[in-house]
Amino acid sequence: MSDPEQPAAAPRHARAADAPAGDVLAGQESAGHVPGVHVPAGHVPPAHAADSQASGGGHALALDVGGTGIKAGLVTRDGRLTRTWRRATRIERGPQAVIDTIADFAAELVDEAAAEGTPVAAAGFALPGIIDERTGVGVFSATVGWRDVPFRDLLGARLAVPVAIGHDVRAGGVAEARIGAGRGSARFVFLPLGTSIGGAIMIDGVPNLGPHGMGGEFGHIVVRPGGLPCGCGLHGCLAQYSSAGAVAARYAAAAGTANTGALDVAARLATGDPVARRIWDEAVDVLADALLTTAALLDPDRVVIGGGLAEAGDTLMRPLAEALGAKATYHVLPELVTAELGDLAGCLGAGLLAWDLVPGDSMPGDSAP
Ligand SMILES: [Zn+2]
Repeated sequence: MSDPEQPAAAPRHARAADAPAGDVLAGQESAGHVPGVHVPAGHVPPAHAADSQASGGGHALALDVGGTGIKAGLVTRDGRLTRTWRRATRIERGPQAVIDTIADFAAELVDEAAAEGTPVAAAGFALPGIIDERTGVGVFSATVGWRDVPFRDLLGARLAVPVAIGHDVRAGGVAEARIGAGRGSARFVFLPLGTSIGGAIMIDGVPNLGPHGMGGEFGHIVVRPGGLPCGCGLHGCLAQYSSAGAVAARYAAAAGTANTGALDVAARLATGDPVARRIWDEAVDVLADALLTTAALLDPDRVVIGGGLAEAGDTLMRPLAEALGAKATYHVLPELVTAELGDLAGCLGAGLLAWDLVPGDSMPGDSAP
């Protein structure tokens, strides 16, 4: 399902809500850094303070706050996740309780990390809704219900370490740019097809927002004028057809079954299910139209497709590439790839944004001054 109240909200990766904490990833290898990824300084708030962890090892604490769960981890400067935790968001308690939970959870983990001999050098938070990354303020989240929360000041005072605040999808884009499927790209679009569809336009590894901070809302490109109504007030938005949430909900409604998720719809294609075929093909066709518009406007060299729908792999990517190729005329089409970091992208991105605040040994793809 799309999020009808929050067109500007981050989409949730479909598997984010109930994925286990990523302890299995504790030994995950770093994807490393690719020379040539140039990340200009200045896209993050300036460093608050130097830190004793500035060079050498150390960890940043990272939290990715979703509507269902908060994923937390310790992230090394080169983007390895070495510890993970998870806590329920419990948004039904109201925004202040959620804000308190975020702060309490982070403070506990800072203490725990210190007690275990891995003190954190900085903390990063990937948050849903409309986020002003320059001021570190959570402007609005319909999902959680907060409004104008000065997260950076609040959490910085509580944790006594430099704090970075990022939008969850854009933080995921940063992680894909530096250590994931966007490595080496001068300009790519990060397009998570989750509960809804958000997006980030990544130029030289940095999210490009526009002067109002509202850029990258690919989910609300109108691809079928007069089509399905969208919570944003328009009709025929991409998110109503090609998000994992839309595919799952449309199938359940059309087939008269329970909503069993978009990957289940993908699995039904092999059984010859005509309803699954119709909805899947429409999702692909609509997405190809949106990507053609994207190619015309932005000329990206790559589109990194993530979220729950991307987990269908070739079932999505192969017909999508074919449809896009069939529609193109003069266009130079982007390379279509699936995201590499899954539902940990936001958490990893939060950690990398936190590291940007810590002066230290410069590494490729690292914008620390
Ligand atoms: Zn819309």
